[in-house]
This record gives sequence, structure tokens and C-alpha cells, in this order.
Amino acid sequence: MNNLQNTTSSASVSTTTQRERAVVVGSGFGGGVTALRLAQAGVSTLVLERGLRWPTGPNAATFCRYATMDNRSAWLSDHSVIAGVDKTWTPFTGVLEAVEGNGMTAMCGAAVGGGSLMYHGMTLQPIKANFAASMPMAACLYDELNQWAYPTVARMLGISTIPDDILATDPYKSSRLFLDVAPEAGLTPFRVPLPIDWRFVQGELDGQYEPTYLTSDIAFGVNNGGKHSIDVTYLAAAEATGLIRVAPLHVVRDIALDSNKCWVLSVDRIDTGGTVQEKKTIIANAVFLNAGSPGTTRLLVKSRAKGLVPNLPNAIGTKWGNNGDRIYAWIGMNGDAGTQQGGPACVGGRDPQSPIPFTVIHAGSPIQAEGIKMMTVVGFGINDAAGTWAYDATKDDAVLTWPATGDTALQELIADRMQAIAVAGGGQMIDTDATAPSTWHALGGVPMGDAVDLYGRVLGHSGLYVLDGARIPGSTGACNPSMTIAALAEHSMATIVRNDIGRVF
Ligand SMILES: Cc1cc2nc3c(=O)[nH]c(=O)nc-3n(C[C@H](O)[C@H](O)[C@H](O)COP(=O)(O)OP(=O)(O)OC[C@H]3O[C@@H](n4cnc5c(N)ncnc54)[C@H](O)[C@@H]3O)c2cc1C
Repeated sequence: MNNLQNTTSSASVSTTTQRERAVVVGSGFGGGVTALRLAQAGVSTLVLERGLRWPTGPNAATFCRYATMDNRSAWLSDHSVIAGVDKTWTPFTGVLEAVEGNGMTAMCGAAVGGGSLMYHGMTLQPIKANFAASMPMAACLYDELNQWAYPTVARMLGISTIPDDILATDPYKSSRLFLDVAPEAGLTPFRVPLPIDWRFVQGELDGQYEPTYLTSDIAFGVNNGGKHSIDVTYLAAAEATGLIRVAPLHVVRDIALDSNKCWVLSVDRIDTGGTVQEKKTIIANAVFLNAGSPGTTRLLVKSRAKGLVPNLPNAIGTKWGNNGDRIYAWIGMNGDAGTQQGGPACVGGRDPQSPIPFTVIHAGSPIQAEGIKMMTVVGFGINDAAGTWAYDATKDDAVLTWPATGDTALQELIADRMQAIAVAGGGQMIDTDATAPSTWHALGGVPMGDAVDLYGRVLGHSGLYVLDGARIPGSTGACNPSMTIAALAEHSMATIVRNDIGRVF
């Protein structure tokens, strides 16, 4: 199903036009950072977000649970977007979109706060050499990122690793098992920094709240709260200034440049079933595209193909990658993985000697099959950005093509290491992505150096910016992407606030 297209509208929908100084499209990591820094610079800004707000708190039932998955899990789809789950329902503006391409499905967030609502929260900073290997064109930025941008993100998201006393509890048996086996498989184990208030996990352990963390039932969001997602950190701070307006259920369809050199957004305000309620034309001096790698790339590839913005760089639609993301099921291991597997994914391992850098993480599984011991182990690393996007006029959309050999060299290394874990800990590893590759880590499509400069300015187009994962060509230095997306956005916004505000917009 083509999720951007599958809305309906009646002939009677009203049309409106409004003017804005600055518009941010998308409210995830890139969008949240952008909104806050524009607000602090005194710029009145409209944030357009296609998804809903999802308020959480102790014992909330905001998000659906894995075992009772419903339409809140999927973005305007009549079926589950989770591989292997055979459920259908009435489409709803749920939290996860599966963007189906040729050879790869990209899973991405659709909510106020973007991917931060349903992500595990693994917040890793790459070392300098790995950052440079993924993004040679941006290697010169690393020292500044390291000095202040990464630490700013860490502070804003309140990251910390799992405390000893929580790791020692029964639900975290599988994490301890991974830590025990990792060294035998040649991995240096570590604890993963997470944007979690561990008092909420303790509250579950004390029986105050229904388990969410303790069962890793967090694939569609954390009901109990305690997660420092973008909606309750960056966006909340931005809205508190009074200068930022967040508009949920607003889908940007097209972006054009008018004869006055202003940016013109065609926007549908939809209801939760996807039906168009209002068609808006929003004219802005500056537009910050933060619709995520697939979202931003699709908008710009469309604009170029339809001639809505003249002379967009040829590199738009290139250098897309999956961060080498691969999910394995480890079954039948010797050790005791427990009957519950606590989350979020709090332990991992690395081999500093590997010829291609990669990281392996144990993520708890929300479901346990009767009589089968199972743990989820995820690998990701540095790979080529071999994916491309092309416009398909029949769909009025851009479609991803990922070559089957796009990440072969990395996947062979990850597969070897998964095998080493199984040899050390018993059982076997099953590559769940082998026949139908998918990724949670879509990156690239509007690459830095080729399509945007190091500050996210679209080349040749004053007032048009890309500050999300779309500008990162394919991988983030053998780390999950969110921290690097946010740190780069912090770094770019410091320069944009200093140099572009008052001149460009
Ligand atoms: C299940 C899952 C687990 C993950 N776990 C981790 C993890 O543990 N650690 C980690 O670092 N990363 C993780 N990721 C990846 C991480 O979520 C993304 O890399 C990150 O969210 C991307 O940030 P972004 O700013 O580029 O875009 P996003 O956070 O995806 O935000 C883009 C926003 O734009 C909106 N949008 C898209 N198109 C339009 C449009 N046309 N009009 C209006 N709005 C639009 C979307 O609804 C979305 O809210 C995970 C991803 C998933 C799906």
C-alpha cells in the first residue's frame, strides 16, 4: 500500500492559503532540534507533522501492545506492517509506516516526535574514525560535534545506561546472558545509553505500573512514559517559547518555488482515517525538510521530476542506505533467557578489530513462543549507500531501489559474528531479513556534499534546508542513527541561526 497516497478527499473540502516565515516539515530528531533552535532565535515557526500526538503516563493505554496489535500500530494501512503478523483492520494514522521499495522495506515513524516514539532509544555516538568512514565529506565537523553537539543531545534527551540493580533483576536475564556470551564471540560488551527515566522501570518492578519496559512491549511506544522522546523534550521546550505551533495530521504533498522565490507547500489536513478535511497552500520564506530519510527524499524527488523546483541537484535520490541493519533470532541457546525480556535494548558488543566496523545489540522480544527459547540480536555497521530513489508517475511518488548486493561485505561479517555467538552460547541464529530485507535505520537520499552543504542547505536554493536523516549517506559510523541526526541538526542550526536568520529568512 502506498501510504502517502492512500487518502481520499471529497469535492467539498475547503482550500486555504497562509503565509509563514519558517516551516518545519516533520517533527522527529531533525525537526525537533530545528524547531527549538528557531524558537530560541525568535523565529515564529509552523511545524507540519502528518502523525498524531501520543500522550503517555503511568498505566496509560495510548499505544497498542504487541500481542493485541491493532490499527494504532500502522500508518494508514489496512494490515499490520510487522513482518509475519497477519492482521487486518480499518486504516488509522498509526505510528509506523512501512515504505516498500524494490529489494528493501524502510520502517519509519509517523507521529509528533517522529521515530523517537517507537524507537528503542539506543543513543550511540560514533568514534571519529567511524564517523569519517560513513561521512567522509563531513569528517571535518567531528571535533565540534564531539565538543558540544553530541553532549547537547545527550543532555536534552537525559541519556543513561541501565543501573546495576535493575540489570540484576529477573526480567533482564537475557541481557545478562548476552553480556556473558559476547566476549566468547570476540565482542567487547558495553551498556547502551538510553533516554530513559529508570524510575519508571523500577515502578514496574515494584508493581506500580503494568509492565511495558519489563516485557519489551515498546515496539509501538512506551505506554507508562519515562521515555525522553522528542515530543516531550525538544518539541515541548520549543512550544513552551510560544513561538512554535505544531500541526498534527498535516501531510505535505508537494513543495514548489514561486516567482517571488518563496516556498509553496501543498498540504492536506486529514482525519485519523486519512480522509482529507482541508487543502492548504502554505507559503514560506524558509522550509526545513525533516520528514525523515524516505519522507524528505520522496518530496524532493517528486519536486524535481514534476518541475516544481527548477534545478534541484541531480544527487537528490542517491546515496541511500540501511545502516547495515539486520535482525537475527537466536533460538535454543544454552543459557536461561528468562520468561520475560526487559527493554529497551540495553546491552551490546563491538569488535574494535573488525575490518568493517559494526555493532551488535540484544533487543528484548515482546513475545515468547511456547517451549522455544528465543532472543533478538541486531547487527548494524558501515556500508555503501547503494540505494536510489526514482519518480514513478503512476503513483506520483518516489520509489526506492536497493541492490541485493548493497551490503554484502558487511552482512557476511555480521553473519559470521552471529554464528560465533551461537557457537559460544549454543543454539542457532536465524537471519529474519534474509528473504525480505527491511531496515529501521533509513538514511540518505539527499546527501551532504552532493545535494546539500554541510549545514543542510539545498545547493543552489536559498531558504530550503534538509536537517534530518536524509542528508546522511547510508550509515552513521556503526551506531544507531538518532544521536548523529540530532547532533548534526544542532551543529547546522547554530550556523543557520548565526548566518541565515535575517538574511535568508
Ligand atoms: C521501530 C524502530 C526502532 C528504532 N530504534 C532506534 C534506536 O534504538 N536508536 C536509534 O538511534 N534509532 C532507532 N531507530 C531509527 C530512528 O527512529 C530514526 O533514525 C530517526 O527517527 C530518524 O530521524 P529523522 O529526524 O530523520 O526522522 P523521523 O524521526 O522519522 O521524523 C520524520 C517525521 O516526519 C513526518 N513526515 C514524513 N513525511 C511527511 C509529510 N509528507 N508531511 C508531514 N510529515 C511527514 C513523519 O511522520 C515523522 O514524524 C528506530 C526506528 C524504528 C522504526
